[in-house]
Amino acid sequence: MVEPTRMPAAFLGHGNPMNTLAHNRYTAAWRSFGESVPRPRAIVAISAHWYINATVVTAMERPRTIHDFYGFPDELFAMEYPAPGSPEVAAEVAELVAPTWVGMDADSWGLDHGTWSLLVHAFPDADIPVVQLSVDAGKPLDYHVQLGAALAPLRDRGVLVVASGNIVHNLRRIDFGMAGQGFDWAQRYDEATRDLLTTDPGAFGRMVDHPDHPLAVPTPDHWLPAAYLAGMAATDDAALEVLIDGYDAGSLSMTAYRLG
Ligand code: ZN
Repeated sequence: MVEPTRMPAAFLGHGNPMNTLAHNRYTAAWRSFGESVPRPRAIVAISAHWYINATVVTAMERPRTIHDFYGFPDELFAMEYPAPGSPEVAAEVAELVAPTWVGMDADSWGLDHGTWSLLVHAFPDADIPVVQLSVDAGKPLDYHVQLGAALAPLRDRGVLVVASGNIVHNLRRIDFGMAGQGFDWAQRYDEATRDLLTTDPGAFGRMVDHPDHPLAVPTPDHWLPAAYLAGMAATDDAALEVLIDGYDAGSLSMTAYRLG
């Protein structure tokens, strides 16, 4: 009998929604990540853009493509990512994290650009079922790390977990004149994060004490998805590998991490 392959997992920095339509070193890295993994039974995507006051999983058969931004070209609003959903995998998520309560979303959300801006590159055929998990804005960091750890068995069930956010994400400090570059504080914070995640991901929470944390993470929505991958790595006593790194617009880091 063939042992089922343990699926990798990843945290991908999605950055500007326009990356959906772009072909650059990040989108190339997402594409090769998708090509490098065994074909998943399903994808569980933890998106920075579903930042609400509950932990909820999409449980519909056909999640809609949500265009959760404004001021972008029509081409981006026309983007569809018609992957099926999976009520079955949604139920598995709830079962794994019990007794933590997970809401089953039948019709309110779908797939937002945190998820599809990456998946159009990583899995362009949109034929693998995708379930999205929200990030509960009301919970402390430990809750997210533990939830990530609880989701680790999905890897042995053929499910690919992709967390989507950005380690450094400060929209008030965006400087479009700094394409491809990061402010010194952004670089310091991103590098310190990398030192931790590639050696001791279970200590991810220490980053809140970093002097640049308030500037790098003014709100935790884009940062918390990384806590899920850190928690997942810690259950395995495994370190994360850097998939790609870099900066954009001064105040975004695009660093992506892979587990397994
Ligand atoms: Zn975003």
